[in-house]
Amino acid sequence: MSNIIFGPIPSRRFGISLGVDLSPDTKQCNFDCLYCELKPAKTIDKMTSYPSVDEVLEAIQNSFAKHPKIDVITITANGEPTLYPKLDELITKINEIKNDTKTLILSNGSTIYKQEIFDALLKFDMVKLSLDCVSQKCFKKLDRIHANIDIEKIVEAMIEFRKATTNDFVLEILFVKDLNDKDEEIELLYEAVKKINPHRVDIGTIDRPPAYDVKPVSFETLESIAKRFENINVNIVYKNRPKQINSYTKEEILSMLERRPLTLEDIDNMFDENSKKELEKLIEMSKISIVDSAGLNFYKIC
Ligand code: SF4
Repeated sequence: MSNIIFGPIPSRRFGISLGVDLSPDTKQCNFDCLYCELKPAKTIDKMTSYPSVDEVLEAIQNSFAKHPKIDVITITANGEPTLYPKLDELITKINEIKNDTKTLILSNGSTIYKQEIFDALLKFDMVKLSLDCVSQKCFKKLDRIHANIDIEKIVEAMIEFRKATTNDFVLEILFVKDLNDKDEEIELLYEAVKKINPHRVDIGTIDRPPAYDVKPVSFETLESIAKRFENINVNIVYKNRPKQINSYTKEEILSMLERRPLTLEDIDNMFDENSKKELEKLIEMSKISIVDSAGLNFYKIC
């Protein structure tokens, strides 16, 4: 079996992260997304090659012994980690040994309507799930899903999950040019996101060579989508984001934040020094506060 562990690596958001790959030998996924950074592969609905729970635990404990300061254990896979047949047992046992370290799982969200997966996900400190499309047509085309995966059931289960979890729940949407960046799909996504009500939504686009011939959307497209997602904590994830520094009055800052909470990165990319001072004054006046959303700070109207 190839390496189960990658890292520890510094992560801007979580400190030191230890990655755990539940499918280290080969890609095993129930999607074959057009934008996947792994090679195209036939979809599957069950992992057939995977490390045992004991092997994973031993690998984590060895890493703890070598690097005592790990902030987060990130469960991933060359593919989809929730297809690991013993996910519940694994997270239960990790929770017994992890002490203060947080646990995070990165999943495509497709199995959340299965009760055993729903229950296992509740045991993670942070859950980050993908939701690229809400119409079944777009979902099939972009994520090239395994047979019988129904997007309606996934969205319903995400709504229930948000109600049930006391931990951090983040949605991730990856936009691909001429696929899910169309008006009607963005509207469906916004309606679904409002109902799901996650702590945060990360929106981004392709930034590594994709499996198929698809193109990223521009930063401006992501920005206009973020503006449409009114009152949602949207974090734009974009490599080499262009700076668009401007000067804003207090009123302009308030009206901007009324539409959409901004991250520190947004502020650094948009605000000149004077505007930052105005922002500080608004914080002192308790008109704006800084709110933590699943590990990321947002400036919001009080
Ligand atoms: S869900 Fe992730 S691993 Fe699976 S095909 Fe899509 S991008 Fe690749």
